[in-house]
Amino acid sequence: MVCPHLECLAMNPLEIIVPTVAALGVPAWGAFHPRSQLFGTTVSSAGNACALTFDDGPNPRVTSKLLALLEKYRVPATFFVLGKYVKEYPQLAKEIRAANHAIGNHTYGHPSLLFLTRRQIRDELSRCEDAVFTATGQGTTIVRPPFGFRGPQFHSAVREMGLSKIVMWSVSGRDWKPQPAARVSRRLRKARNGDIVLLHDGDHHAANADRSHMLQALEYSIPRWQDSGLQFLKIG
Ligand SMILES: [Zn+2]
Repeated sequence: MVCPHLECLAMNPLEIIVPTVAALGVPAWGAFHPRSQLFGTTVSSAGNACALTFDDGPNPRVTSKLLALLEKYRVPATFFVLGKYVKEYPQLAKEIRAANHAIGNHTYGHPSLLFLTRRQIRDELSRCEDAVFTATGQGTTIVRPPFGFRGPQFHSAVREMGLSKIVMWSVSGRDWKPQPAARVSRRLRKARNGDIVLLHDGDHHAANADRSHMLQALEYSIPRWQDSGLQFLKIG
């Protein structure tokens, strides 16, 4: 069965996964599944609280609105940014940092890392790192691989870069394309303390992607989560 958790895919995940799984055989689950530890340790639990994570930004159409929403409910969050967008919109990365959220490395251009060499992966990670440092004056310590894909060479590259945690997820909003907000809210309903929730403020294909469905779903979900006792933390 194809893993249901592959994310950040603007196309039908089956288009990529089916041939890749067929080619790789047994290690495929270990390379794709967000909770797999086959090639090295990853983080997919937030301990006693819930961690909201936002991938593929910053996005000039969304990120500032998202920051205002998080501020309204005093929720800390973690942003896995793309270096190419940080370079284009350094002010947004600065705003994320100024609001005391965590920033993680999501590579420079969002390639699939599965078939890249260790050196190519290091290059992607360090170009993102450079962009974040230039924009905010601080580097990152955490990383999330695009599409959740990782193999042994990814873990080696991460170690060489000195990044301390590979952060995956346990609940997904599956919000990578426009859709009714209620659909995203329904998926978020199962989040509990301990979960890492995957959402997207950006789109790796386009800098100005529409993520209003995600914002509306969060506006609906956050007060309900708080009423039911969820606590929030950032990962860093
Ligand atoms: Zn992504």
